[in-house]
Amino acid sequence: MLTVPISASVDAIDALLPQTQCQRCGYADCRDYASALHAGDAEINRCPPGGDATRVALSALLQRDLASFPALADDVDAYAAEHVAVIDEATCIGCAKCLPVCPTDAIVGATKRMHTVIAEDCTGCELCIIACPVDCISLSSARTFASAAHPLMEARATQSERLRKAYEAHKSRFAVRAEEGLAAMIESAPVATSKADKKTLLAEILAKAKARSGTPS
Ligand code: SF4
Ligand code: SF4
Ligand code: SF4
Repeated sequence: MLTVPISASVDAIDALLPQTQCQRCGYADCRDYASALHAGDAEINRCPPGGDATRVALSALLQRDLASFPALADDVDAYAAEHVAVIDEATCIGCAKCLPVCPTDAIVGATKRMHTVIAEDCTGCELCIIACPVDCISLSSARTFASAAHPLMEARATQSERLRKAYEAHKSRFAVRAEEGLAAMIESAPVATSKADKKTLLAEILAKAKARSGTPS
């Protein structure tokens, strides 16, 4: 267990995190990571979007030695700064699985309809890429309001505040929708393809999954 000064509240720790909500740290969101830091259960080098600015600020707040660990923990994936998601609209099947996972609600589209990304609100967190069953989302290099990397905490403040608000709105929106049964609807929604297309699509998905895992077909 690490020692945490009593003055460092979860709010104070969370204020130093970029609010990208990308889960790279291994926690459900920035607030969860802040709670783990507060409890002394996590180190300060687990936030790639926060980079050096966050690490140095956490070190000062929590009085942890910057030199005693690497800049990024070994088990944390790197983050592609200044990228946004792009949906291949010709391949999108309108399954809506990307909607609940996007922390900023940067994806618009209805079930069985083509979806698209609002670049200004996209942080490039990649959570939608993981959720998409047909691999039709990729990252493209772009500096937008939400994806811009800021080396200084002060310069990042406006962006972090907007991302925090967007995430709070997202959580509340999807909690309401879950109550209305949207989650079940997304799970069971038929895709907007013919029976033959579905068969081909399924074969492609399985082939890609096998290729990723190295399983021979
Ligand atoms: S932005 Fe940092 S603290 Fe927030 S979820 Fe991503 S890695 Fe964790
Ligand atoms: S569109 Fe995708 S990459 Fe962009 S913020 Fe939403 S989940 Fe993250
Ligand atoms: S998860 Fe992929 S296929 Fe489904 S709606 Fe989103 S972009 Fe389209």
